[in-house]
Amino acid sequence: MDKILAGVARFQREVFPEQRDVFQKLAFEQNPRALFLTCADSRVMPNLITQCKPGELFQCRDVGNIVPPYGAAYGGVSATIEYSVSVLGVKHVIICGHSDCGAMRALLHSERLAKLPSVLGWLHHAEAARRTVMEVEPLPPEEQLLRALTEQNVVTQLTNLRTHPSVAVKMAKGELSLHGWFYEIETGEVYVLNESKKAFEPVSGNREQLVRAWQPGETLAL
Ligand SMILES: [Zn+2]
Repeated sequence: MDKILAGVARFQREVFPEQRDVFQKLAFEQNPRALFLTCADSRVMPNLITQCKPGELFQCRDVGNIVPPYGAAYGGVSATIEYSVSVLGVKHVIICGHSDCGAMRALLHSERLAKLPSVLGWLHHAEAARRTVMEVEPLPPEEQLLRALTEQNVVTQLTNLRTHPSVAVKMAKGELSLHGWFYEIETGEVYVLNESKKAFEPVSGNREQLVRAWQPGETLAL
């Protein structure tokens, strides 16, 4: 805990004064560009990955970057989606999975979750992804299977996201775009779902497409 408290002290002493104007402007308003929904994993850092500043990303984090389908679970995730889309008017929702995801690995080995009933129940919202990748014969080695499951889970959660009325309404009006990402911890690479190709493509080789997706003036610092 000492390290964390020392970090707060350093933030107040060194970081905050340099950005005092930014924080004072944000004190009574926020206008985030996107809802960034990702895993609770400590190695995934949305603001660092995207280089977004305070106030630019509304965030929702849970084990496995899961979005329960509308009506399946009224809780923090559905409330965060509804508020950010309907009230804050975010124009983009990004669902971001990541490499070495413990939740996805647990989904491959659900027998290990006997003493974690909350996790087991939560991961049921990713069952379609698990079943989809387990249909492939012969099954690939564990690490390839994990990657395939994590990517498929992003696709599944985007499908679940579309069942939320707040999302459906904005999409019908052309006011909301959905994006699937995969973040690779060991390389820093971000892969973006190309839905027409049903493939995740690296941002570094896909810059123009991403810039278009984010609209002029909203581009990420790549
Ligand atoms: Zn994870």
